[in-house]
Amino acid sequence: MYRFYINNIDDDYHFTELARVFLPDDGFEIIAYKGNSIADLLGKNSYLVNASGESDRESIKREFYGLLSDICGIRPPWGTLTGVRPLKPALALCSGNSVSVMENLMKEKYLMSDDKTSLLADIADYQLSNISGVPWEKASLYIGIPFCPTRCAYCSFASNVAPAEERVLYFNDLLKEIDYAGKQAAEHGTVLESIYIGGGTPTTLDAEQLRVLIEKTAAAFNVDPSSIEFTVEAGRPDTITADKLRALKELGIQRISINPQSMKDETLRLIGRDHTADDIRRGYSLAKEAGFEVINADLIAGLPEEDENDFTASLEEVIRLGANNITIHTLSVKRGSRLKESDPVYYRKNADTVSNMLDISRRVLTEAGFRPYYIYRQKHQIGALENVGWCRPGTHSIYNVRIMEDKQTIIGLGAGAVGKVYYPSEDRLERIANVSNYRIYSERFDEMLERKNKYYGG
Ligand code: SF4
Repeated sequence: MYRFYINNIDDDYHFTELARVFLPDDGFEIIAYKGNSIADLLGKNSYLVNASGESDRESIKREFYGLLSDICGIRPPWGTLTGVRPLKPALALCSGNSVSVMENLMKEKYLMSDDKTSLLADIADYQLSNISGVPWEKASLYIGIPFCPTRCAYCSFASNVAPAEERVLYFNDLLKEIDYAGKQAAEHGTVLESIYIGGGTPTTLDAEQLRVLIEKTAAAFNVDPSSIEFTVEAGRPDTITADKLRALKELGIQRISINPQSMKDETLRLIGRDHTADDIRRGYSLAKEAGFEVINADLIAGLPEEDENDFTASLEEVIRLGANNITIHTLSVKRGSRLKESDPVYYRKNADTVSNMLDISRRVLTEAGFRPYYIYRQKHQIGALENVGWCRPGTHSIYNVRIMEDKQTIIGLGAGAVGKVYYPSEDRLERIANVSNYRIYSERFDEMLERKNKYYGG
């Protein structure tokens, strides 16, 4: 156990987050320390940080990063930057500066690697050239369908394998919530910029339910699905049928997501997905026949027993299959997932392999004409690495960008949906979450409706 006495800090949060990049949770203790008598406190594996009494947090973090690097013999590439949205400080530093000046400032301030600063520079460059500033007076809409055919080993989402009659009960309540929120939006003049139906797996609904859901949403929020960015996740290929895709296309949906995670059958079996790589190929071929303009593919770097060659083969194949948005996730092993229960420290392993996979993804996608356009990090990701959304120019998802900007209201409907209301005068967001369990969502349905009033100060 290491003990770090950090002088002159008010709370340990940022230092604990940084220490977690290097050490397991039970391998260190941070002590917010004040005073000048330290000799008695220091014992074996105990260190004093910020002996000079510096008050600038970033400067103390840089010293702490250096100490942790010496102890552990690694220099994690994101330096002292631990937040979920690394692009935010980068864009703030771009204001009034060129992107290359921003890169240097990020290196100095956060001790980031050349690779990561240049990745941020590429993303900042894409966003500044292709995406307008956030219309904060508009809102995004998220609708959650919390059902999947099986549960993946790493899943920590609101996702359930539920009997058909329970799914119907949920669906009927969801339609009522959509109606309720749509009426509120109309009363308050809320206009949507984008709509995202996710989960879970929305295509666990049948073709008729999908049709009802989209028509209801369009009517309640007074939108034409073909003239607003409207995405429907068809994540699991085993839920895709020609009639579902036809229904989506006829209703004007342009964007879907078919998420292989890996194209290796053995991996798909290991992570508990009840389908094969051939099912993924069939899903892509149906989606192309149906004529979708944008198809997103999620891949995960760091899946059990995969090496760089497996990852590269999956990536090259989804490019060949015609995905024009590809999101490369670093495996995150969170509480509540089967993988976390079976191997609590899995996420601390394989950092070098995953780092190589991310390097490969950058090279292969850039060569294939993709550009990185959004980025986020999560807790418990292997090597404290990142998730990056890549697109063929012009096919980016506004919804994904707005979520990361944190400057727009997101109306969240359905079990597991976490909405946010944005207060522009204070530049602040407040979370408005529904319960994540679909049965409790129905049991406490009136309360879910009441929570919608919070979007409008109720
Ligand atoms: S498809 Fe996604 S939501 Fe469904 S079980 Fe797998 S990880 Fe969870």
